[in-house]
Amino acid sequence: MDLGIAGKWALVGGASKGLGLGCARALAHERVNVVMVARGQDALDAAAAELKAELNGQAEVIAVAADITTPDGRAAVFAVRRDFDIVVTNAGGPPTGSFRDWDRAAWIKAIDANMLTPIELIKAMLDGMLARGFGRIVNITSSAVKAPIDILGLSNGARSGLTGFIAGLARNPEIAAKGVTVNNLLPGKFDTDRLNATLQGAADKSGKPLDEVRSAHAAQIPARRFGTPAEFGAICAFLCSQQAAYLTGQNILPDGGAYPGTY
Ligand code: NAP
Repeated sequence: MDLGIAGKWALVGGASKGLGLGCARALAHERVNVVMVARGQDALDAAAAELKAELNGQAEVIAVAADITTPDGRAAVFAVRRDFDIVVTNAGGPPTGSFRDWDRAAWIKAIDANMLTPIELIKAMLDGMLARGFGRIVNITSSAVKAPIDILGLSNGARSGLTGFIAGLARNPEIAAKGVTVNNLLPGKFDTDRLNATLQGAADKSGKPLDEVRSAHAAQIPARRFGTPAEFGAICAFLCSQQAAYLTGQNILPDGGAYPGTY
């Protein structure tokens, strides 16, 4: 299926690896020009170079090493380009822990990264999208928004705040009637460095080998495996497509069937 977005410009956060890279790759293969952001220059440059080699000149790939959660980082991105048709908001998730560990500073950091940063990015880009009559905003959040994960309380809280805000924003007729859709993509367990770090923490705590912990977690998923960044990216690209123009304000949950509810 031709997604009808060739030639558009996308900003993808957290794009040097994992889910962000999966989204950048899927969009670029639809001939969308992508600006990829991550903090670590070397990994970002390597990912961008690999993607460029795959594309053979079919789309532009620009790497910007910046911390997207800071005003300076966002300014560095906007210095390169400001008019984006597509934005995939994404950065690292908050650390695991217990509610007694999290002081005000930890909460502010989580809220800043996983709630206010997407809102700031949307605010900066929305008017341009509305003026051009096309926009696709995809926020990478977490399955924790639907089914909270005890050790990820900072994520449960901060991302739920974003989800509530997006629910109202997407349904504003000034946005929904002007060709701009806003959706959240809620990863279940996807095979990335982030998941491995979380599972390594569980392995260390239990004294079991990482492989055993990985297998035990995968066994709890009806699909009996973790998702791949490529699968995640393909869903993201579809949400950004012309065909998805009537899909807005939704929380899409790719999780191999892990969420046990009917709705
Ligand atoms: P990952 O493999 O660790 O990749 C994270 C990416 O984000 C890297 O490119 C990282 O590069 C970049 N990044 C982190 N902080 C950043 C910042 N402040 N500014 C710009 N870039 C930043 O993680 P992932 O698994 O793809 O996860 C992506 C998001 O989905 C996270 O918020 C995670 O919590 C959430 N999530 C993941 C899963 C899963 O199963 N994988 C499940 C639920 C939710 P640098 O470190 O170099 O900046």
